[in-house]
Amino acid sequence: MRVRNICDIDLLKYHGALVNLADTRNKIQHYEVNEEAEVLIATIISAFSAIEHLVYHALNERFENFESIIAPEQITTLHEDKEAYIKRKKDISDDICSQNLSKVSFSYSANKNISIPCPKCAETFLIQTQNDAVKCYYCGTQYQNLQEIYLKDKNCIISDTMERELGKRKTILKELLECPEINAF
Ligand SMILES: [Zn+2]
Repeated sequence: MRVRNICDIDLLKYHGALVNLADTRNKIQHYEVNEEAEVLIATIISAFSAIEHLVYHALNERFENFESIIAPEQITTLHEDKEAYIKRKKDISDDICSQNLSKVSFSYSANKNISIPCPKCAETFLIQTQNDAVKCYYCGTQYQNLQEIYLKDKNCIISDTMERELGKRKTILKELLECPEINAF
């Protein structure tokens, strides 16, 4: 709340999630909490999604810079929780849709695209930002340009995904010729 008031940051839909968390925290402090466990869990999960949005997109920061409050490993642990993971992905998808952002993707035919995954987190939420830069909306990693994404694909996340996805579309793609440039390597 303070960030919003001091820095005039628009927290979009996430504002409500943080207000809910603050309300619940106050009630807990005054021993007045009277919610079902499910409601409390949903409040916490929504608030974490909001915190990730705040750090990565509103502040354009990394959790590494807030280690004394919350470490990146704790965020990784959080993502191992199925509900938190699904909630975060849904929130990002909604943000992409409502802000009319376009994902970095490979177009193999008119209106047919394969989203390219982030080489760091493997999620397909790479968004092209200003000056050809690319940002992962899931893990917050920023890349200078598209080329950097491929250069950082040391674990073959992109190449494996593309091979798999293109393999699924073999019949549609059979007319595509092999790229002579790739064969040259
Ligand atoms: Zn990522």
